[in-house]
Amino acid sequence: MHRYFIIPISVFFIIIILFVSYFQFYDDEWKYFFKPEKKIIPEYCHDSSTDLKKTILNLDQDQKANRNFIDDQDFDKNIVHLVYFVPCDQFSRDYDINNKIENIITNINTWFFKKSNKQKIKFDNYNRQLDITFIRVNKTLNWFNTFNSRQNSSDDNSSRIEKIILTNKNIFNNFETKKFIVFFEGWEKRKSFFHTTCGRARFNGKVAVIYTNSDLKNKETCADIINSNIDELGNEEQSVLHELLHLLGFPKSCSKNIVADNIFHVNDSKDDILFKFSGGKYLDFNNDDYYNHSIDNCPDLKDSKYLTYN
Ligand SMILES: [Zn+2]
Repeated sequence: MHRYFIIPISVFFIIIILFVSYFQFYDDEWKYFFKPEKKIIPEYCHDSSTDLKKTILNLDQDQKANRNFIDDQDFDKNIVHLVYFVPCDQFSRDYDINNKIENIITNINTWFFKKSNKQKIKFDNYNRQLDITFIRVNKTLNWFNTFNSRQNSSDDNSSRIEKIILTNKNIFNNFETKKFIVFFEGWEKRKSFFHTTCGRARFNGKVAVIYTNSDLKNKETCADIINSNIDELGNEEQSVLHELLHLLGFPKSCSKNIVADNIFHVNDSKDDILFKFSGGKYLDFNNDDYYNHSIDNCPDLKDSKYLTYN
């Protein structure tokens, strides 16, 4: 065939393929393969209102036994508080009261105790129960997903969640010394065909966000992968602990195995919890980066105020 024919025809088809891919994976309004069910947006959703102080809803349907809408009394400072966070148009799967979050946190601390010098992470407790706050907001999942996320940028969806927490500090005790893990009933706007983001945390920040649901119903979500190996931390626990360690400010730039183009992760073992995709076997492989290491003048996670030997 003549090349003057081949070239324009291939270009034409490439353009068509790019268009179709764009609409399939990026644009939320037009989908053929993964068509979302037509959803009716409840009347208590107000995406246009800008007052984030009035964004928290108190709905009859959310009133359930053992649920907390405000932070219970604290018995300690420097603790990690948990939030189950539901956009107004999403169905609550009650992760705060059905032991889902409780199990994740128990597994994390069991693993952490074993891998560390018998330390545990200080999670907010009340009457020996994890203190988990339920928050339903008058914003839709779409409002959160208006932007693609870029880590550490100011207007992605995890920072919109963070902004709501920071604006409503009055519902929490000892806000200034607390760190937050928000279990978000939704997902992050997809920016890659192959990789689902399970969590986000601002380095040494206040709020880590864990996405508990997925836009691709036929794919595993971040919260559904079950790991049967006892020595290895489960996938969802890995995501939560990985983001929490970022929130606590680790790894530091003085760590041995960090590389210039990825200073937030260690690269000496893919099974390290702080490897870029988080592993489940090591809390600092070889203890030469962030936990119980011997690097001079380099902060060590074991000295963190958010850990305890009790
Ligand atoms: Zn990371």
